[in-house]
Amino acid sequence: PIILAIESSCDDTSAAVMVGGEIRANVVATQQVHEQYGGVVPELASRAHQQHLIPVVQEAMRRAKVAKEEIDAVAFTQGPGLLGSLLVGGMFAKTFALALGKPLIAVNHMRAHILAHFIKDPKPSFPFLCLTVSGGHTQLVVVRSPMHMEIIGQTIDDAAGEAFDKTAKLLGLPYPGGPHLDKLARTGNPLRFSFPVGAMAGYDFSFSGLKTAVLYFLRQQTAQDAAFIQNNLADLCASIQHTIIQTLLRQLTRAATDQELTQVALAGGVAANSGLRAALQDLAGEKGWQVFIPDFEFCTDNAAMVAMTGHFQYEAGDFASQLVSPDPRLKLT
Ligand code: ATP
Ligand code: FE
Repeated sequence: PIILAIESSCDDTSAAVMVGGEIRANVVATQQVHEQYGGVVPELASRAHQQHLIPVVQEAMRRAKVAKEEIDAVAFTQGPGLLGSLLVGGMFAKTFALALGKPLIAVNHMRAHILAHFIKDPKPSFPFLCLTVSGGHTQLVVVRSPMHMEIIGQTIDDAAGEAFDKTAKLLGLPYPGGPHLDKLARTGNPLRFSFPVGAMAGYDFSFSGLKTAVLYFLRQQTAQDAAFIQNNLADLCASIQHTIIQTLLRQLTRAATDQELTQVALAGGVAANSGLRAALQDLAGEKGWQVFIPDFEFCTDNAAMVAMTGHFQYEAGDFASQLVSPDPRLKLT
């Protein structure tokens, strides 16, 4: 089938075209407007989606050399995400499908982050363990099939991406801070400062304690030395990043061991973190795991992963009616 997919859950507007399970185009318009506010402003995100969506869809169809009459189904992100953002993409998809007389496919965004692994080789085989680490979620998921997934652990407060962004903000880095912190951490000493590891009982995570610990530590240090952050920036970044990675990998290891899973996958924007990738590769060598990490383009928000999920749902006959509405809190299972 030829599937047009729309992603608009947060602050990236994206459209993709998939033909017979192969991605032919994946266009993403990232919104710059939020940087000056240090976080995503929902109302501005909805407006920017409204401006970007039609040009992005047109560009995806142009690159894929597909005419609208050839499309077999329209897939869109139903949730989770920001209500206003989801509404823009969802209303577009419904209208487009109605006008063309084509079926509609409602996609779960977190499922799509995981199924991004099936866009390109090498692909994991079922079952596998996926650690989804994004701006809004941290989940350990046992993936039994494209349609059958089970969350076995998740964050009880902040997401891993939020932990990066919030601690980076305390260090005075621009938003989103994750990539900046990653870069600075490369030249720092990860063992210089120690912060609490948020590995809970079972497979759950907690990152709010790290943020508070960093806040109090910086307050105390800068009271004595106003240039403390500036003079220790790389070590601070490396130590914070090390703590987040320790937390993630401790739970991942527990889960993989208990569940006897040897294929381990990363999904979501934080999978771009160079320290996490390197530490996971080392750990995998030690444990004999096979590691899967999608290309960066498919880790952050993109419509290719929505198209991939839409493709699986199309094959399974899982279509939505025109009565479908966005669900900001849509659950994975
Ligand atoms: P969700 O899917 O949960 O709704 P999202 O899709 O907005 O969230 P992503 O786009 O998957 O989130 O990821 C964005 C997050 O990834 C941000 O918190 C960003 O700081 C973080 N991030 C991106 N690159 C890096 C990096 N190199 N190191 C650490 N964090 C990073
Ligand atoms: Fe996302």
